[in-house]
Amino acid sequence: MALERTLTIIKPDAVAANNIGNILAIIEVAGLRVIAAKMLHMSDEHTESLYEEHKKRPFYASLAGYMTSGPVLIMVLEGENAVFTLRKIMGATIPKDAETSTIRNLYAEHEQKDGALENAIHGSDSIANAQREIVFFFKPEEISSRTR
Ligand code: UDP
Ligand code: MG
Repeated sequence: MALERTLTIIKPDAVAANNIGNILAIIEVAGLRVIAAKMLHMSDEHTESLYEEHKKRPFYASLAGYMTSGPVLIMVLEGENAVFTLRKIMGATIPKDAETSTIRNLYAEHEQKDGALENAIHGSDSIANAQREIVFFFKPEEISSRTR
C-alpha cells in the first residue's frame, strides 16, 4: 500500500444542500485525512484547468456553468491508496448508477434536470492528475502534513 495524496472538490450542489459535513464524515471514516482546504467560487479559468480533458466534449458548457454556480470546498486528502479509495467512496459519475452508501448515491440527486450532471463531488482519477490538480489549487505552504 502506498501513502498518496489526492484532490477532492465538494461541488456547488452539495455545498448548497449543506452536505459538507455528511460527505466529510464518509471521507474520514474511509481513513483519508484532510491536509489542506479552501472555500472558493470557481472561475471559468479554474474550470478549464480542472477539466481540460473535457473541453471539447458536448457537455463542457453546462459543466462549466455548474462548477461556477456557487462556492465549492476544495481539499487535499492523504492516505493509503488515496486516489483509488476516494474514487471508490464517491461512486459512479451518474448518481443513479452509484452503489449504495457511496457519496454520489447518498448526496446527489438521482433525477437529473437538463444540463450538467450534478453529482456532489470531484475526485482525481489518477496519481498524475492528483499531482497536477493539487499544484493548481494549493501553494506548498497551504498543505499541512499530519504530525499526529
Ligand atoms: N459530466 C456531465 N455530463 C456527462 C459526463 C460528465 O455533466 O455526460 C460532468 C459531471 O459533473 C462529471 C464531470 O463532468 O463529474 C467530469 O466528468 P468525468 O467523466 O471526469 O467524471 P468523474 O471523474 O467526475 O466521475
Ligand atoms: Mg473525471
